[in-house]
Amino acid sequence: FPSRLPQVGTTIFTVMSALASQHQAVNLGQGFPDFGCDARLTEAVTDAMRAGHNQYPPMPGAAPLREAIAAKIEALYGRHYDAGSEITVTAGATQAILTAILCCAGPGDEVIVLEPSYDSYVPNIELTGATVVRVPLTPGTFRPDFDRIAAALTPRTRAILINSPHNPSGTVWSAADMHKLDELLAPTNVLLISDEVYEHMVYAPLRHESVARWPGLAARAFIVSSFGKTYHVTGWKVGYVAAPAPLTAEFRKVHQFNVFTVNTPMQHGLAAYMQDPAPYLQLPAFYAAKRDLFRAGLAQTRFRLLPCEGTYFQTASYADMPGPERELGEADFCQWLTREHGVAAIPLAAFYGDGFEQKTIRFCFAKQDDTLRAALARLARL
Ligand code: PMP
Ligand code: GLN
Repeated sequence: FPSRLPQVGTTIFTVMSALASQHQAVNLGQGFPDFGCDARLTEAVTDAMRAGHNQYPPMPGAAPLREAIAAKIEALYGRHYDAGSEITVTAGATQAILTAILCCAGPGDEVIVLEPSYDSYVPNIELTGATVVRVPLTPGTFRPDFDRIAAALTPRTRAILINSPHNPSGTVWSAADMHKLDELLAPTNVLLISDEVYEHMVYAPLRHESVARWPGLAARAFIVSSFGKTYHVTGWKVGYVAAPAPLTAEFRKVHQFNVFTVNTPMQHGLAAYMQDPAPYLQLPAFYAAKRDLFRAGLAQTRFRLLPCEGTYFQTASYADMPGPERELGEADFCQWLTREHGVAAIPLAAFYGDGFEQKTIRFCFAKQDDTLRAALARLARL
């Protein structure tokens, strides 16, 4: 039967994880930690199950979790979201983004995506029948190019998707970037979907410029985040959306017929665990140490390092490799690296609609230090 997504195959993350396990490679491809979460968190979930939180929660999410999310956003970014009408718990950021796109866009609309972009955005927009408008981030630096974004705005532009800290490049938008976006969108009705899943992985001296800090942007925005990244539980698939009440009302219309709601004990466990801000406040230092370890090792190899301001991803160019491998396309290079040298990574081309190639790949450093050292020892032999 005719496919709604004829161009789409299996995601690169699944492909590379399968190849890594087939070749017993160190898997620095798909973004997930190889270490456990805090035992207090699993205990909080167990406690919630034992306390009988095992039936459907309210459609927008368990009230204590929505309250904890609202309190966190207010404490960190100074904006009050009403837990009753402006916060919705979702099945990870992935469902949050799809649901936000579904309630913004349809045939005849245009949605702007800044490339490289997380791989679910474009197929999500295509499913709505809206037109995807791809705007490149500045080549080489991956910073937003506001002239190009301005040029892409038309009367049909319905929404723009942004993502800071940015997967895959690890760049972080500055206050000046946010200010420019605010100015650009002020005269328009364009909605904003802000993917902030790496909000707690911004490295000193930078800070996370959440859209919640910017009233003009927050008024038009669905802010998306995910507990998977913050609490080392990517398999739990619990995230949330913060948006002004009229946008949240629309979001929930779609959400209720999409997943209806998200599993109850995890929500209560997360709500209890969130009472202590230390775990997310300590996350930048925790990951900065891993980033520094990984970068110091990678600097001793033939890869050329790119900056990493946030996320748990490090990008690197193989353009200066001595052998014929430097002529390979990114996907072939990642296959070769996995098969021949036992380290899996992700081609940056996977984050571009047209498969743009720049001899650059992405490593995930959300790994135990020993895992990172094992990978670095293999990469040093190249
Ligand atoms: N957005 C970005 C930028 C991501 O990197 C990811 C996960 N890697 C997601 C969304 C999806 O998050 P979740 O697993 O919570 O659905
Ligand atoms: N977001 C993760 C990454 O960028 C992967 C998530 C997935 O496998 N879909 O690596």
